[in-house]
Amino acid sequence: MLLRHTPKEVFERSALTINPAKTCQPIGAMYAALGIHGCLPHSHGSQGCCAYHRSTLTRHYKEPIVAATSSFTEGSSVFGGQANLLQAIGTIFSVYNPELVAVHTTCLSETIGDDLPQIIKKSIDEGNTPEGKIVIGAQTPSYVGSHVTGFSAMTKAMAELAQPTTHKNGKINIIPGWVEPCDMEEIKRLAQVIGVKITMFPDTSGVLNGPLQGEYVMFPKGGVTLAELRQTSAATGTLALGEWCSGEAARLLDTKHKVPCRILDMPFGLAATDRFIDALRTIAGAVVPEQIEVERGQLVDMIADMHQYFYHKKVALAGDPDQLIAMTEFLTAIDMCPVHIVTGTPGKKFEKRMKEITKDSPYPVNIKAAGDMFLLHQWIKNDPVDLLIGNSYMKYIARDEDIPLVRWGFPILDRQGHQYFPTVGYRGGLRLLEKILTALLDRQDRDAPEEKFELVY
Ligand code: SF4
Repeated sequence: MLLRHTPKEVFERSALTINPAKTCQPIGAMYAALGIHGCLPHSHGSQGCCAYHRSTLTRHYKEPIVAATSSFTEGSSVFGGQANLLQAIGTIFSVYNPELVAVHTTCLSETIGDDLPQIIKKSIDEGNTPEGKIVIGAQTPSYVGSHVTGFSAMTKAMAELAQPTTHKNGKINIIPGWVEPCDMEEIKRLAQVIGVKITMFPDTSGVLNGPLQGEYVMFPKGGVTLAELRQTSAATGTLALGEWCSGEAARLLDTKHKVPCRILDMPFGLAATDRFIDALRTIAGAVVPEQIEVERGQLVDMIADMHQYFYHKKVALAGDPDQLIAMTEFLTAIDMCPVHIVTGTPGKKFEKRMKEITKDSPYPVNIKAAGDMFLLHQWIKNDPVDLLIGNSYMKYIARDEDIPLVRWGFPILDRQGHQYFPTVGYRGGLRLLEKILTALLDRQDRDAPEEKFELVY
């Protein structure tokens, strides 16, 4: 067994992470940048960083991830990468002709102290950035934060493209946070059914879940356009889904362009989706359409039908703060008991919020921000659980402790479907419950003695 040496005894660790429950900042920045139409993400650092970021995204989304790199050598690692980036920007526009280049930094370029805004300005002054083209930048050293903060930084850089205006276009900005491309599609569908016109950014639907067409398209049809981003200042409001991924960008539009924002939880599960639908309904000044009421009713029906199998099942979760908050609330609402919860992303606010959500739990609950999978494994050894929910790296704990695993979150490297089947909204709630139930009942079938092996559940 791979993790058989994990000891039960938990010791305080402050300077050592073992089996991280996060990945590095630029991966988030790269994913967000892919949600802009005609954008080429650019990694300002070594080729190795860029290859790792691209391969992680490729393995999760099962699509080729396009990105350029400043290709630092020994010289640029010592003297700075300005010359590399200037040359790269010129080459990218002349060879690939994107609308926009989204540059993110890496540990190396941040440690040297490359001044990204200054280099971007220089690229305009010296003509490396052609007229009408745009370069945006996000500073994403990976010795702080996580892929979530990298995503947030690039999303904020998109909001900075908004242009001053006194005109209102009657649209609402929705910042979906780091969810799957199919989740973004589902959020757009819900807004359309209610009758709210939106600008979603970033929007990776149609980019990372597109069809196979037999012909390679470098810049797929999907993604928020540059024109739409410039007009986000003309929206009547912003709904940011998830404080960690989307809060900063929403607040920037609020303070700079007086676009009022509401920060909601990501719409995973019943209550968070209710709040999202209610926010859209209020904005539209409409009643909730019957179609959405039916979808909600179906989710409630499934919860009622299957409640006996959820009741007081203990769950361990690892993932990103915005996802975990909504998921934990959902599990608690269906009487499951999240008892061990870890995110690799730092932030004490996370622990506070999770304590509020789990305050009525019948069991003691362990919660840790900036934690790791090693700690989660130790907690599980001391207090076993019925189910694990998290990314593919959880499979090692699942195998070692013989606990069923529901793959959910990022990255999922060893299964398919997550980019096509949404888990947001009421329909997504059905999908989540189906996955959870299947895992629990498969285990029940496997372990049942012959006299208790049931045909019907
Ligand atoms: S942690 Fe830093 S050095 Fe390593 S891949 Fe990420 S950005 Fe590059």
